[in-house]
Amino acid sequence: MTGSNSNHQTPRAFSRVTHPTCPTEIYGVSQFPMHEMSIVQSILGILKEEMVKHDGHKLKKVVIKNGALAGLVTESLTFSWEALIPGGPFEGAELEVIEIPIKVACGECGEEFWPEHTKCMPCPKCEALLGHTVLQGKEMLIDSIEIDDAE
Ligand SMILES: [Zn+2]
Repeated sequence: MTGSNSNHQTPRAFSRVTHPTCPTEIYGVSQFPMHEMSIVQSILGILKEEMVKHDGHKLKKVVIKNGALAGLVTESLTFSWEALIPGGPFEGAELEVIEIPIKVACGECGEEFWPEHTKCMPCPKCEALLGHTVLQGKEMLIDSIEIDDAE
């Protein structure tokens, strides 16, 4: 039994949402950025492993790259960082988020361009809307860390 029934399975959790196509309507209700929280938690896990290599030093700053298509809100990442850091091994460490814009290659003519919107991306050369290849903007990664070298 596959296929035809799936359209009728509306999740109850979404039944009160007035605009189901707009995820901000759903997440806007909560002030707690769950997704970013878990991302920051996994970043902290990576940092803990990384700091083992620099035993005895203190983390001063971490720089992460947040691609426009990664689906993460920079303010929520910063908020989550500030919520999770106090009292832990990285107390006082600073988080810098670099936002990476989307760059795509047109699926029709190969023109490389930076679209203004994440959903509607008309090619400036041939006006094609679909079939583009994303060259950058999907990434969410740790760019660099700064450690305190002082004894
Ligand atoms: Zn094109």
